[in-house]
Amino acid sequence: MSKDEIQFPITFVVFDMEWNQPISYMPSPVNPKDLPGEIIEIGAVKLTMESETCFSMSRPFSIIVKPQFYKIMNRQVSRVINKNTDDLKRGVTFPEAYDYFLKWCGDDYVLCAWGDSDISILKSNLKIHGMPAEVNERFLDIQPLFGRIAENTAQQRSVAYAVDFYRIPQTDDFHSADKDAYYEARILKETLTDYFVMCRKENANEDIEIPRLKHYISNPNLNTQYRWKTGVFPNEKEAVARALKEELHCPVCSELIKATLEWFSSGHTWMSLWQCAEHGPLTAKIRAKKTPQQEFYGSGQLRFVNGNAARYVQEKWEEKQKKGSETEELPEKCSENVQNCEQL
Ligand SMILES: [Zn+2]
Repeated sequence: MSKDEIQFPITFVVFDMEWNQPISYMPSPVNPKDLPGEIIEIGAVKLTMESETCFSMSRPFSIIVKPQFYKIMNRQVSRVINKNTDDLKRGVTFPEAYDYFLKWCGDDYVLCAWGDSDISILKSNLKIHGMPAEVNERFLDIQPLFGRIAENTAQQRSVAYAVDFYRIPQTDDFHSADKDAYYEARILKETLTDYFVMCRKENANEDIEIPRLKHYISNPNLNTQYRWKTGVFPNEKEAVARALKEELHCPVCSELIKATLEWFSSGHTWMSLWQCAEHGPLTAKIRAKKTPQQEFYGSGQLRFVNGNAARYVQEKWEEKQKKGSETEELPEKCSENVQNCEQL
C-alpha cells in the first residue's frame, strides 16, 4: 500500500562504532586526514519489520577491535567513551571484526546509523587496511528521518534527545557501541511506526503529503556530488548569472536532470532543488567567489541530499515567498560579503 513500495519483511541493521583519535602532539603513524578515527568497537542491532506494524529486534552484536595505529587513548575520546589505553590492548583486528560483522548482518538489509560520520569513519578504516571501501548499498541515516517525521524539523538532534522524545526507558549510559545501537534501533522503530501511521493518514486523505522513506535511503558508494566553476568576470552578478546557466546532470548516471524548485537567492547563496528519477533528490548551490586579482567567478555544487535536507531548501524558499519579492536582483555593491576563496 505504501508509495515507497517497501517490501516486507525488511531488515534494518543499525550500527554504531566507537573510535580512537590521533593525539595532536604525538607523531602519527598514518596521516590523520586518511584516518580521522580508528575503530575500537562495533555494535549493532537488527530491526526486522514483518509488516507495517510488526517489528522484532535482535540481541545486540558487539565486538571489540584492537587498534593498530592509534594505540594510545586520546584524552577527549576517553572522557566520552570511558576507556583507557589498557582497554585498547584487547580485541581482535579490524579485518577480523569487520568480517564477523558482515557475517552477522546477512544478505539483504538496510544499513542504518545516526548521522553520517560512522559511515565515513568505516570507509577510512577499510581503506587504511587495504580492504574494499564499498559498503552496503542501501544506507539510512536515522537522524534526519527522525527530525522530519517526529518533529518536522531539519535540526540535528542527539540520540539522547530522541530517546527522551520517545520516552524510551534509559537503562544504560550512552557511548558504548552496542548500547547506542540499541537506542538508535528503538528510535528507528518509533520513527517508522509514526511514519506508517502518517502513510495510512495520507492514503485516507489526498491532501496530506508526507516525506518518503526512500528519499532517506541512499547508496553511500556513489559519487554524490558535482562541482563547477565559471570563468572570471568583473562583477559578482555576471559570475553568478553565468553559473546559473550550467546544465546539470546526475553525478551518478549522467542523465540530464530537471529542477523541482527553480533557483532562488538566500543571502549570497543561490539554491535550487533537482531530481534524478533514478537516484533521488539533489540540491545545487551557487556562490560568487573573488580571485586575488579582485575578479569574480561563480562556484557551484550539486549533491545528493536526504529528504530532510531537501525539505530545508524548500523551507528557505517558502520563507522567501512569505517575505515577498524583496531583492531578487543581486545587490550591486556586495563585494565585502563575497568569500575570498581560492580553493575549489
Ligand atoms: Zn541519476
